[in-house]
Amino acid sequence: DTIGRNLDRAVAAYPDREALVDVPSGRRWTYAEFGRAVDDVALGLLGHGVAKGDRVGIWAVNCPEWVLIQYATARIGAVMVNINPAYRAHELEYVLNQAGIGVLVASLGHKTSDYRALVEQVRPNCPALRRTHYIGDETSWAALLAEPASREQLAGREAELSCDDPVNIQYTSGTTGFPKGATLSHHNILNNGHHVGQLIGYTEQDRVCLPVPFYHCFGMVMGNLAAVAHGACIVIPAPSFDPAATLRAVQQERCTSLYGVPTMFIAELGLPDFASYDLSSLRTGIMAGSPCPVEVMKRVVAEMHMEQVSICYGMTETSPVSLQTRMDDDLERRTGTVGRVHPHLEVKVVDPATGVTVPRGAPGELCTRGYSVMLGYWDEPEKTADAIDAGRWMHTGDQAVMLDDGYVRIVGRIKDMIIRGGENIYPREIEEFLHGHPKIADVQVVGVPHERYGEEVLACVVPSDPADPLTLDELRAHCHERLAHYKVPTRLQIVDEFPMTVSGKVRKIELRERYAG
Ligand code: ATP
Ligand code: MG
Repeated sequence: DTIGRNLDRAVAAYPDREALVDVPSGRRWTYAEFGRAVDDVALGLLGHGVAKGDRVGIWAVNCPEWVLIQYATARIGAVMVNINPAYRAHELEYVLNQAGIGVLVASLGHKTSDYRALVEQVRPNCPALRRTHYIGDETSWAALLAEPASREQLAGREAELSCDDPVNIQYTSGTTGFPKGATLSHHNILNNGHHVGQLIGYTEQDRVCLPVPFYHCFGMVMGNLAAVAHGACIVIPAPSFDPAATLRAVQQERCTSLYGVPTMFIAELGLPDFASYDLSSLRTGIMAGSPCPVEVMKRVVAEMHMEQVSICYGMTETSPVSLQTRMDDDLERRTGTVGRVHPHLEVKVVDPATGVTVPRGAPGELCTRGYSVMLGYWDEPEKTADAIDAGRWMHTGDQAVMLDDGYVRIVGRIKDMIIRGGENIYPREIEEFLHGHPKIADVQVVGVPHERYGEEVLACVVPSDPADPLTLDELRAHCHERLAHYKVPTRLQIVDEFPMTVSGKVRKIELRERYAG
């Protein structure tokens, strides 16, 4: 169905239940109020002449207006383009032009960057951009709503829409290079959101705490669309990730579900006053985006009460989720694997050289097929043809193993695999192993050039106690007799933190470049 009609159903079914809560400002909307607020924005955009298929950009940190824009653009058949909050002038200009954005809705700024100044700076170079409205500037926001179209015009527009129309251009995280814009339809993302929510048992009783960025599919699809599809409530703990604000929001709003990438959970569990938060309302949540260390998972289940936490695997290009653990999967399944294939999708593991499916138990490239595969990269047909083959299989670039019972283990990105003297080394295996060391708070393993072996293994470690960091000798002693010799890191780098994408992933490419010498 279309996203607009999906919202109508939730409004009709649960008018008095809460749909959206913004903890920082204390603002809250019931479904009836949320539906009306979305319509106001939709009528405003329509009144400003936004046509079907026109690109509307959203450049903002998490806030309620983000969600209003998401639903209002979908309702009028516009294509919302989510712009990374970390962008600066150069990247902003690129995406405004690449996507041909006519209307931009932006927050006033994020951290040290003044969005309004940046927009003014690039405006002369962006001929398609005709209107900009700022969230947090009352006059500017009022102007967005000031010349509303009529209800009849809105109904007329909605009657023209099909669920196969594009609704978003979502940029990938940019973990391995420059972000790519995945063009996704209502059918792609609405169904995916619905299934993600269904597999963790969402009902109108659920309250979903979302510290993950809305700009990324984790927030906007697995969060917002999944919640609304089941009448649950979206809770915004803070404009951008803040571990203490997240736990405060869970406690104050009695959230039942909490999302995060593993590094976010690590930060929450590491708060000095962690034990003082009442997290007993939690039952589930989603951990996704990068591999989850076993130790972290155990603590999330035991100390955060998230007995039914789900692991999801996906990518922006597949709407995003294609593999997910089920609520009754045991802890081993939820640490060792990313679960089984989603309803109505297919996955296979192939030899990347030949494209032939490998036997179960053998590593290969993971491929996904079905309703969730994107329409294509926006205006980049060659990249689309590289990623999606003639049989409509999306090649993920991730190495995986399918076990006998259909559960899938992600080995790592093909690009991250280290080849040392002809041996294939999977960084994730070493990271998992090192996570158990008491002097290691967090660790990333990458391959760096080596004259004789081609590559050698570098461990970048965030120490548990900066005053007493791990030494290379201690690292070696820890690995001795427990890890094959060629996998033992030969170099150690102590770091304060890792270079991250806004969606919370470590940019290994940057670690490799930084420490190559
Ligand atoms: P880019 O494509 O721009 O380099 P990206 O691949 O990180 O960035 P996303 O679409 O946000 O962009 O992320 C998808 C990728 O995240 C997957 O291809 C996979 O490598 C990784 N990933 C997602 N979920 C998991 C998971 N549960 N375990 C391990 N890796 C995961
Ligand atoms: Mg990717």
